[in-house]
Amino acid sequence: MIKNKATDIDVLVIGGGNAALCAALTAVEAGARVMLLEAAPREWRGGNSGHTRNLRCMHDAPQDVLIDAYPEEEFWQDLLKVTGGLTNEKLARLTIRESATCRDWMRSHGVRFQPPLSGALHVARTNAFFMGGGKALVNAYFRSAENLGVDIRYDAPVDRIDVDDGRFVAAHVGNTRITAKACVLAAGGFESNRDWLREAWGQNALGEWPVDNFLIRGTRFNQGVLLKQLLGMGADSIGDATQAHMVAIDARAPLYDGGICTRIDCVSLGVVVNRNAERFYDEGEDFWPKRYAIWGRLVAQQPGQIAYSIIDSKAIGRFMPPVFEGVQADSLPELARKLSMDVDVFMQTLNRYNQSCRLGNFDHTALDDCYTQGVNPAKTHWARPIDTGPFYAYAVRPGVTFTYLGLKTDETAAVHFGTKPSRNLFVAGEMMAGNVLGKGYTAGVGMSIGTAFGRIAGTRAAQAALNQEIGSRA
Ligand SMILES: Cc1cc2nc3c(=O)[nH]c(=O)nc-3n(C[C@H](O)[C@H](O)[C@H](O)COP(=O)(O)OP(=O)(O)OC[C@H]3O[C@@H](n4cnc5c(N)ncnc54)[C@H](O)[C@@H]3O)c2cc1C
Repeated sequence: MIKNKATDIDVLVIGGGNAALCAALTAVEAGARVMLLEAAPREWRGGNSGHTRNLRCMHDAPQDVLIDAYPEEEFWQDLLKVTGGLTNEKLARLTIRESATCRDWMRSHGVRFQPPLSGALHVARTNAFFMGGGKALVNAYFRSAENLGVDIRYDAPVDRIDVDDGRFVAAHVGNTRITAKACVLAAGGFESNRDWLREAWGQNALGEWPVDNFLIRGTRFNQGVLLKQLLGMGADSIGDATQAHMVAIDARAPLYDGGICTRIDCVSLGVVVNRNAERFYDEGEDFWPKRYAIWGRLVAQQPGQIAYSIIDSKAIGRFMPPVFEGVQADSLPELARKLSMDVDVFMQTLNRYNQSCRLGNFDHTALDDCYTQGVNPAKTHWARPIDTGPFYAYAVRPGVTFTYLGLKTDETAAVHFGTKPSRNLFVAGEMMAGNVLGKGYTAGVGMSIGTAFGRIAGTRAAQAALNQEIGSRA
């Protein structure tokens, strides 16, 4: 049971992931009395942040776990490229600069860093890895928040909030109404809300509801309840409901919370066919870290939203092995049979591909000169015949990481209503990440945005609450 006297709480933080925790910690550091409402029970706390491994950091010279330099301009250009310009430069640069200075603060709350383990996506220069992963990070933040007196409530999903003329008044958890002087919304995207995803994606030409075959890589608790309510009451929005970051993941992954270990990383070493045994995209277009995030959508566009990554034994040892073994066979026709595919069509596809390979010097660490000729779609790098048994297949499905639709904000992290910033309602993390990352992705930037805006939102909310207190005493 949540009790709240109107005067008890200065800052109410809604959410229990990285952005919420950063907001709660900065608000309590600023002298505010803070309550944090986490929808999940304690053992599932932390949202998608618990699944993360790193954050992207600007730095001008080598720094502890970060090698070389990753200057502001390069970070900005990377963002510009992946978003195709769908980014607010002011907010992006603010995030980038914050990423240069936030790690000491993170350490002061118990977060530890480590160099990347092998199998990470070539990011030793740009990304700082959390020792123990995102789970250790959120545990450290929760511990620190408890020690600093933040009132943390689990199993506390907020159903709705009361807003009066752009001002936050109260939040409702079931029958309990909680008032506070200021509020930070940090409740993630809506990727776990399959009904909303279904509505956004609709039906395809085959009459299928593609979303029914999607898996959610992270928490089940990001239902987008407050995002929907805020958009409904006229808060300014950013982004498109049909856009989501999606990775092709092991089709055997659980519906929620499979996390990073469900990724299938051998696509660029072989070919990918759909359930009709047809190839549909260039598997060697670019380095895997730059392409893994487009394959979720590609698979989503295939019949049945399933595809199969096919490799031969030459690929073994060249990629991070999946948790579960693939389907294995000594010959390609046997593999097709095991996958319940039309053997003739499968062999036609594989033979056509194998015959089209123009072998150069195979080098998986470079954009090499092994490519196909005369086959559609082409494979432009790392094209080698699939001819050396045993052969392996991994079934993949679209795995949703996060959605892009969010609330529009500015450098103060305020929620806007009709372009007017709220004086006491702020937003951080995935709920506003679309301001910086309108589409696309570059590894680690989700946590950079959440850390930067969580801290800004926490500071601003504390200021709003404490100024209000002074105002009411005057
Ligand atoms: C498998 C996976 C790996 C990833 N790896 C990385 C990585 O290495 N680096 C990186 O930068 N990004 C990564 N991301 C993206 C990253 O997780 C997000 O960008 C980031 O965690 C967003 O933080 P957040 O606090 O906004 O949301 P979350 O961490 O998802 O937290 C949202 C919180 O809100 C709570 N909540 C939701 N609704 C309500 C409600 N109505 N009332 C109360 N509480 C509510 C949830 O329970 C949850 O605690 C990864 C994502 C996934 C799924």
